[in-house]
Amino acid sequence: MTAELIILALDESTTLQLLSRALRAVGYTTVIAHDRAGIEKIMQESHPALLLLGTSLKNEKGTVLVEDFLKKFPTLPIIFLATDTSAELIREALRAGVSAYLEPPLKTDEIIDAVKSSLLRAQHTGDWMRREVKRNTTSLEKRISELEVLLAVGRDIASSLDVDTVLNNVVSAAVKLTSAEEGSLLLLDEESNELYMRAGHNFEEGFINNFRLPVTDTLAGQVIETGEALSFNKDSLHKIKTAYLVQALIYVPLKIKDRIIGVLGVDNRKYQLPFSKRDTLLLSLLADYAAVAIDNASLYQASDMERSKFEAVLSNMDDALMIIDHQERIQLINEAMCSALNVQVPDVRDKVITDVITQGDILNLLRRKEEKSLRYHEVNLDDNRIFSAQYTPIQGVGAAITMQDISYLKELNRLKDDFVHTVSHDLRSPLTAVLGYTELLERVGSVNEQQAEFVHRIQESVKDITALIDDLLDLGRIEAGFDMHRESIHLDSILRYTLSNLESLYTNKKQVLEVEIAPTLPLMHGNPVRLRQMFDNLINNAIKYTPEGKIVSIKLHHEGSEIIFRIEDQGSGISPEDQPHIFEKFYRAKNAVSHESGSGLGLAIVKTIVESHQGRIWVQTKLGVGSVFTVVLPS
Ligand code: ADP
Repeated sequence: MTAELIILALDESTTLQLLSRALRAVGYTTVIAHDRAGIEKIMQESHPALLLLGTSLKNEKGTVLVEDFLKKFPTLPIIFLATDTSAELIREALRAGVSAYLEPPLKTDEIIDAVKSSLLRAQHTGDWMRREVKRNTTSLEKRISELEVLLAVGRDIASSLDVDTVLNNVVSAAVKLTSAEEGSLLLLDEESNELYMRAGHNFEEGFINNFRLPVTDTLAGQVIETGEALSFNKDSLHKIKTAYLVQALIYVPLKIKDRIIGVLGVDNRKYQLPFSKRDTLLLSLLADYAAVAIDNASLYQASDMERSKFEAVLSNMDDALMIIDHQERIQLINEAMCSALNVQVPDVRDKVITDVITQGDILNLLRRKEEKSLRYHEVNLDDNRIFSAQYTPIQGVGAAITMQDISYLKELNRLKDDFVHTVSHDLRSPLTAVLGYTELLERVGSVNEQQAEFVHRIQESVKDITALIDDLLDLGRIEAGFDMHRESIHLDSILRYTLSNLESLYTNKKQVLEVEIAPTLPLMHGNPVRLRQMFDNLINNAIKYTPEGKIVSIKLHHEGSEIIFRIEDQGSGISPEDQPHIFEKFYRAKNAVSHESGSGLGLAIVKTIVESHQGRIWVQTKLGVGSVFTVVLPS
C-alpha cells in the first residue's frame, strides 16, 4: 500500500520541518506547498489524503484557502493549525469546514493524532459514498432492465397478432419484474360471472385450464368490482377463495376503456418475500399492455370476421368483380369474374392484368379507362354471354372492374326492339294510309270548308301520333343504355346542319336567329345522331315557345375541355312550379298545353342524351321574359 500523501501548507518555520519529519516517521509521505498555486498543482497531479493548513500562507488567510479548496474538493480533510489562540479564528475555520483545528502550543503527537483521526473519518465517508454509488448503480441497472422488459413486451404487442403469445409474455414479464413465484392473467366470463385463467406462469397446464374463480367474495373479484389494484404481504398464510394459499400477492385490474375485463396477478406461495409499491406500479403497466393486446385481438378478430363476410359476399355475388392496384396488378377477383374470363385465382392474383387476361373487350376497357365518357362498356364473351363492364377508379387502392351479365337484357331488348319495330311498323302503315287518304279526299271531289278543317285536324293528329311513336322508340333505346355508339365528332358541324334543317320553321315565324359558334372547338367523343336530336329539340322548343318576330340566340363555345351550348329565347318562360318538372317524361307546362302541340317527351330525351354523354343541362327562365337552356358536355 502506498503511503498516504499529506500536503503541508504552512509558512516556512521550524514547526514545518518538525512536522514533516514527524509525519514521515509514522509512515506518511509529505509534500510542502508554499502558496495557493502550489497546493493546486499538487491537488491536480497527485491524490493527497489530507491538507495541513496554517493561519496564513503567503499573505493569504488560511480560512479563505479552506473555503476555496473545499468548494473544489469537498471530501478533502483539512486540518487547521492556528499560530495564535483566537475564538474568532476558531469559529471562522470551523465555519469554513475544517475537519480538525489545532491551536498553540502545537505538539507533534497531537498533530499526528488529529491527522490519523481525520484520515479515518475520511475513509469512513469514502466507504459510505462508494457503497451509495454502488447501491444507486444497482438500482439503476434494475430500472434499466425493468424498462427493457417493458419495452420488449410493448414491441411484442406491436408486432404480434398472436394474443396467446403476447399474454403469456406479459405474465412471464410480470413474474420476472416483481421476482414473484407465480403469475396469472384472469379474464372475466360475464355469463357465469367467473374468472378463468387466460395465461399463467409457473402453474401446471391442467391447473390453468381448470381454474375458475367466482367474482363474488374473492380478492380477484374485488378488483373486478372496484377497479382498484390490491396487494398484501402477510406473515400468516392467506387463503384465496377456492384456490390456493399465498404469502404475498398483487392483483391489478385489466381495463379496456372504462370496462374491467380481468385481473393480472403475481404471488409468492412458498417464501414470505413481500411485494413493493413499485411492483404494483410495474404490474399496472403490464396490465395496460395486456389490455391493449386483448383489445387489438378482438378488433382484429372483428375486422377479420368482417373481411371474411365481405369475401363471402364477393365470391357469392353474381356480379363479376376484380380489384386492381395502381400498377394494374390483380388484388382481388371473385368467382363470377374468374368464370367469365375463364381463369383461376392462383394463376392471376398479383399478376399484371394485361399479362394474364386476354379478353379483348376488357383490354379495350383498360386502354380507354381515361375517357370520362366510358362508364359502361360491353364485353362479349366467347360463350355468347354479354356483360356490361364498368371501370371505377378507387382512391388509394387502384380501380375496380365490375361486370354484370346483361345477356338476358340484350335478349329482352332484342325481343322488345322486334316487338316495337313490328308494332310501329304495323301502326305506321295504317297511319300512312290514313294520311294518304285524307290527302286524296280533297282531290276526288269538293269538300266544304268544315270538312276541309276536319281533314286538316285528322292529318295533324296522325303526324302527332307518328312523332310520339318515334320519340318513344328513341327514348327507350337511349335509356336502356344500348345506344352507346360513339365516334369523334365536330359538334359545330352538327349544330350547323340542324340549323339549316330548321330554317323554314323560324323564317315562317319571322324570328331572328343569332348564332355564334367559336372558330375552334375541341373534338368530342359522342353519338352524332343523338346530339343532333338534342340540338333539334332545344332549338325547336325555343322557336315554338317564342312569339313571332322575336330573337333566339344560340352560342357554342368551349371552356377548357368542356363544350358549352347555350340557347336563349324571348318566349313565354316557364313558371317556378313547372320548372322542376319540365325534364320529366310527358310533362308539359301550363304555357304549352293549350297552345302548342307536343308530346312532353322532347326535354326528357334531351336530358337522357346529355347524361349519356356525361354532361349537364339546366334552365334559367322567367315567366313572360324568356328562357336560357345551357348544356355542358365533356369533349
Ligand atoms: P313538348 O313536347 O311539350 O315541347 P318538351 O319535353 O320539349 O315537351 O318540353 C316540356 C315542357 O317544357 C313544354 O311543354 C313547355 O311547357 C316547356 N318548355 C320547353 N322549352 C321551353 C321554352 N324554350 N320556353 C318555354 N317553355 C318551354
